[in-house]
Amino acid sequence: MKKTYNISRRKFLELFTGSCCGFLASCSTVPITERKQLAIYPESFINKQAAGAYNNFKGKAKLIKDGKDLKNIIEIGGKIEKSVTSFFLKKDNIDPTKNFDWEYVLVDNKKVKNAWCMPGGKIAVYTGILDVAENDDGLATIMGHEIAHAVAKHSVERMSQAMAVNVGTQVADIFLGGAINRTRNTVGRATGMDIFQLGIMNPFGRKQETEADYLGLIFSSLSGFNIKESVNLWKRMSEANKGKEPPQFLSTHPSSKNRIENLNEWINQIIIEYPPIKI
Ligand SMILES: [Zn+2]
Repeated sequence: MKKTYNISRRKFLELFTGSCCGFLASCSTVPITERKQLAIYPESFINKQAAGAYNNFKGKAKLIKDGKDLKNIIEIGGKIEKSVTSFFLKKDNIDPTKNFDWEYVLVDNKKVKNAWCMPGGKIAVYTGILDVAENDDGLATIMGHEIAHAVAKHSVERMSQAMAVNVGTQVADIFLGGAINRTRNTVGRATGMDIFQLGIMNPFGRKQETEADYLGLIFSSLSGFNIKESVNLWKRMSEANKGKEPPQFLSTHPSSKNRIENLNEWINQIIIEYPPIKI
């Protein structure tokens, strides 16, 4: 059993290494996957910004303030919160959520099939995704994935990358006589897209998405959910987005096919290695 896990873990790390931490020394390590990531901004700074943005959002969005759906979201989230904390404490590791101030809102919008978790554990679930989630295990897959982005501090990394790209680009652009910015603006005008989002930033985004899938499964499993449902969930999601799914190159999300292949590869070993944690 141990062997399978190691092979697969190595494979996982192979997918993820070699992206950051060159000339800029500010690095941290993602819990569990041990991927090195760029972290120029402190977590406290980003959490504070996120809390402000979340409050702002709550003031503007149409929220559902009671009822069984909201209760369910808070219950599932609470299970994940506790499992993540006790998992890291039992291993004598620092709890990556120790500075979190968890909060949940349910947004009344059937058209939006989405959910997100801002840095510091500020979560929103839209009513549109509840039908796709279909059951608690499906909802735990979605919430586990979003929470994983926050636990792995992907926003800190994103902001740090953006800053590093800008600094690096400006230096390069001096030598190229402004060619990069000219191209960037021309392409941008023609397509409405920023080449830096397509070219440089995007691979980081996909890497983070895959990492969130992996960690999300682990968190759901630790919390006692049936993670086999994740495959059905992403199939339903792909069905719900039919015709809207952009080709993988343009998307920050892994294509459903790749995603489901990954999940199938990970599920059995995660069930063995990360069984429900007793709290
Ligand atoms: Zn994601």
